[in-house]
Amino acid sequence: MAIVQEIIQRLQQGAPRVLLTTHWNPDGDAIGSTLGLAHYLRAKGMSVQVVFPNTPSRALQRSPGYGAEFTCVHHDNPERAKEWIGQADVHVALDYNTPHRVGQQLAEALESFQGDSVLIDHHPQPDASYDLLWSDTAKGSTCEMVADLIEADAGLNSLDVAAAENLLMGLITDSGSFRFPSTSAHTLRVAATLMDCGVHPNDIHARLYETSSEGRLQLFGRGLAGIQFVANGQAALITLTHQDMIDCQYQSGDTEGLVNWGLSVEGVRVSALLREDEPGVLKCSFRSTGQADVNAFARAHFNGGGHRNAAGGRSEESLTTASQRFAEHIQEIL
Ligand code: 5GP
Ligand code: MN
Repeated sequence: MAIVQEIIQRLQQGAPRVLLTTHWNPDGDAIGSTLGLAHYLRAKGMSVQVVFPNTPSRALQRSPGYGAEFTCVHHDNPERAKEWIGQADVHVALDYNTPHRVGQQLAEALESFQGDSVLIDHHPQPDASYDLLWSDTAKGSTCEMVADLIEADAGLNSLDVAAAENLLMGLITDSGSFRFPSTSAHTLRVAATLMDCGVHPNDIHARLYETSSEGRLQLFGRGLAGIQFVANGQAALITLTHQDMIDCQYQSGDTEGLVNWGLSVEGVRVSALLREDEPGVLKCSFRSTGQADVNAFARAHFNGGGHRNAAGGRSEESLTTASQRFAEHIQEIL
């Protein structure tokens, strides 16, 4: 755990101004790890600012601290983000593994950063460009790593409710509510300690998973009604057209969880969702069970990456062409 001590030391050396960032289209772990760490460091009296690349889903916008004066969204306010990048002494990158994952514009703005950079992340193949690099692919979430860092510093049980709620959120979202293989006994111990700080998983669950619009469920209906099975029933493919998204009044976050339904069918080891955000702009999500490596698949065929069992990517093809390519190549990882 030497790297954790080095990071703690760097955060304490000479009262640094700290900048936190996370990946494009921030999910529960991205928002939870940045806001959780921000609340913790601020409670210690440190200067901390958080820059998100773009706006998360409505449910995530209700995370404690989102929208506070120490946060900004680069896409909406590039000038303020640029100012904060210029003022910071230490940049901590959370829940992503290479600089370009923050999106092209924020990545360009961060290129001018002069201070020390720290990576805290659980995705495979981290970029070597960070001054302090803490990468642990065995961890189910970046929030669990932030919790470990806090435990090694002042202790997790000293955490305020706002920080605890953010960290527990990332533990829950990245583990599929504690059901994915990355869930360890340690994960549950961390979750228990966070509960002792005054936060209950049910509150987080209600905020994230019981606040959907009717349109979201209709979108799931359309996706599931058209599901195809390929590779002798070992792979599922769900597609959504741009028209589906218009008809169901798509909002950011609405397809969260849809791709996982493919894996509920016996014999299916890989599931994909191809979502046509605009004609010729596809957002792709891949999930797998066991050894089938969708990170490798997304890197090889869909300009993306992620973890072995959960990855994403992009494509500029039509839905039909991308679907055909998926069906042609998926056998490579089965
Ligand atoms: P999702 O399918 O939920 O968008 O993403 C699943 C996982 O894949 C996440 O861990 C995310 O970080 C990663 N991921 C999603 N899209 C991309 C992408 O375009 N590039 C890379 N490298 N990783 C991605
Ligand atoms: Mn994560």
